[in-house]
Amino acid sequence: MKREFIYEALPTRVIFGDGKMAVLPEEIARLGASRALVLSTPPQAIWAQQVAGILGDTCVGVFSEATMHTPVEVTEKAMQYLTDVKADCVVALGGGSTIGLGKAIALRTGLPQIAVPTTYAGSEMTPILGQTENGVKTTLRDAVVLPKTVIYDVSLTLTLPAALSATSGLNAMAHAVEALYAQDRNPIISLMAEEGIAALGQSLPAVIANPQNREARSRAQYGAWLCGICLGSAGMALHHKLCHVLGGTFDLPHAETHAIMLPHTAAYNAPEAPEAMHRAARALKADHVADGLWLLAERVKAPRALKDIGMPESGIDKAVELALKNPYWNPRPLTDKDIRALIRRAWAGEPPQA
Ligand code: NAD
Repeated sequence: MKREFIYEALPTRVIFGDGKMAVLPEEIARLGASRALVLSTPPQAIWAQQVAGILGDTCVGVFSEATMHTPVEVTEKAMQYLTDVKADCVVALGGGSTIGLGKAIALRTGLPQIAVPTTYAGSEMTPILGQTENGVKTTLRDAVVLPKTVIYDVSLTLTLPAALSATSGLNAMAHAVEALYAQDRNPIISLMAEEGIAALGQSLPAVIANPQNREARSRAQYGAWLCGICLGSAGMALHHKLCHVLGGTFDLPHAETHAIMLPHTAAYNAPEAPEAMHRAARALKADHVADGLWLLAERVKAPRALKDIGMPESGIDKAVELALKNPYWNPRPLTDKDIRALIRRAWAGEPPQA
């Protein structure tokens, strides 16, 4: 255990349970708000309309244009609408893309946000916002973007397709794996990380076998919550850095990129973070963390190769260059040769190696 640490709890109110979406009106009132703007992506617009119907007069508008990577143009359009309808809070219903828009609005207005996550990405538990302007994605950390309230209702995850459930769950797990070896790790977050990995490791295969399995879905969502707290509380390293570079440079899908990279980055860091990786392996009921993650990816039929999700082989050089460009802390030092080998294996879909 780390002998010196700082622990700071993030002040989000969390309501967890099947059917808990029903408490949304009370939760809006609890924030002292009465004019909610409901946000969603275009495919989830019908859900947003249903929520608007339930809220009645408490909903003053629906904006269903949230999209991946929070482009500033979309935020500006949403801001105009929010001003027109005089909203005094936002309800973000969806995955990381929709919650990102809610955070971007909170940053600009200070208005309270209620997040209702429908994937396992974990953004709802973090004070982190990634935004894209002129094709460049930048990330900031500001307490004002942290949702005031999060409602985890398992019934909203039953429609998440099996493939996205698998990759989104592995995306969540990556937050916990990196939190275990983070430079600023602490005992509470490490407990949450181990429990989050275990919950997702046990539940994801059952979710994939039957996406309507409420028990497994609930356990996966519980794991995703814990992993989201890990992301919001501990510094991330090689894994998140590489996924950011790969996703941004080659426009790769977010959750799939995380799912492919995780066994490789865990294998890379394992020799320099033995205690952390022992805990991750224990949570996965595996002898070695990378083997456990590789096997889990196979069991949940997650993609294994970057080449299968759109990365060209010619991009490996660029990815290595960008991954090494700005130095950042990682338990194991990064060398051109090692990072090149790691990315090449992930590109080809070969098993991880330390
Ligand atoms: P997403 O929000 O882009 O959703 C993917 C697709 O799935 C969308 O079309 C969405 O409408 C649909 N969908 C979501 N839930 C569904 C459900 N239950 N049933 C059917 N369809 C559903 O995907 P994501 O992986 O949740 O989020 C990715 C984005 O979030 C990225 O931009 C990433 O950078 C960001 N993110 C940010 C943080 C943070 O802390 N700032 C953390 C994680 C992810």
